[in-house]
Amino acid sequence: MTNHTKTAFAVLAVAGFTLFILTTFVPYPPAKAAALDAGFSESDIATGLDYLLERRFFFWGRTLIDLGLLCALALTPVGRHWGDRFLAWTGQRRIPAALLFGFVYLLLSEIVYLPFGIGRLYHARAWGMSNLDLADWLREHGLRLGINLVWEAIILTGFYALLIVFPRIWWLLAPVGASGLAVAYAFLSPILISPLFNDFTPLEQTEWRDLQPRVQALIDKADIPVREILVMNASRQSNHTNAYFTGFGSTRRIVLYDTLLKKHTAEEIESVLGHEIGHWQHDHINKGILLGALGMLAGCFILDRFLRAAWRAPWHLQGPADPAGFPLVVLLVVLGGWLSMPLGNVVSRYFERQADQASLHLADQPDAFAAGEKKMARDNKSNVAPAPWNVWLFSSHPTTVQRIRMASEWKETSAADKKRQ
Ligand SMILES: [Zn+2]
Repeated sequence: MTNHTKTAFAVLAVAGFTLFILTTFVPYPPAKAAALDAGFSESDIATGLDYLLERRFFFWGRTLIDLGLLCALALTPVGRHWGDRFLAWTGQRRIPAALLFGFVYLLLSEIVYLPFGIGRLYHARAWGMSNLDLADWLREHGLRLGINLVWEAIILTGFYALLIVFPRIWWLLAPVGASGLAVAYAFLSPILISPLFNDFTPLEQTEWRDLQPRVQALIDKADIPVREILVMNASRQSNHTNAYFTGFGSTRRIVLYDTLLKKHTAEEIESVLGHEIGHWQHDHINKGILLGALGMLAGCFILDRFLRAAWRAPWHLQGPADPAGFPLVVLLVVLGGWLSMPLGNVVSRYFERQADQASLHLADQPDAFAAGEKKMARDNKSNVAPAPWNVWLFSSHPTTVQRIRMASEWKETSAADKKRQ
């Protein structure tokens, strides 16, 4: 290892260890007080914290081994060595060599992942959160792996083709291409990918069809072209309760988990639906793709500078499109992902707050909103007393306590408004 890579490795190790200690072991008592204040019991809080703590060990264990593998490939002469071998096997053709590298890396990272994935499954089963047996889990996991393989081959081919054909301005073009792929994925995923894992039935054809008039009233009030509200048989996999808005253009739809419909009152379901309609009204999928492209532009520019500087040891790259740089690209993308995660989550939490506000306006049932949030947090064994630094880093949604508080504040202001009228 050169001095440069040794320093990089040491900085990574110290930063990773500090993050692990901070996010796993450092408590934050005011969050617990706020959760008690919002109506959660000591045992709700302890359950959420314990479940999360145990899951964090799987997460950090896997992250550690994954990053170790990546560093061993990216910061040592191994990348150059393997790159040369793959180039020799493919007759010096860079795209097939990069695809081969990508395939070998995916295989290695899969070997690392598998024990953690199985461990997580048994852990979730022990906590009553998963309904899958090992055979079903393996089948779904294999299916997901196959989809990833196809998807990553498309991305890698496009990426290296851009590097080869437009070596100077590839970083300007890559975000445009990626946005196109993101739109294609958003469009296809609800009709091609999701049905491989679950059944989706129109609400009016399920045992919850009585909800349809209420749902329609909500949609009419929001004035959005919702064609389909679908019920997903999520109970096949787990007891998680959730709902989501997905798709692009004509495949846009709102999906409700059957677990949610089984456990919640009609008023609570209206509030959850109002939240998903809020995402639709605010056009969050399109905005997310656009913001992602902007972030990617910055990321690709920095990646370009790194790849141009990597002509020296241990990489000896013959230019950005040299397949020997593949592990370096992945390492930088992973690190970029970690660095940009807090910013991405700030945006996501902003979108989620907008959707919550829309729900409160549409459904106009702040008490049901708060009750639904509370029930969901309990059923999903959520951590209702997270430390603020964990929220900044990891939370794509405002905390349950913040959401309950938002509902009660909304109730107060709307009562004051009504009085004034
Ligand atoms: Zn949401």
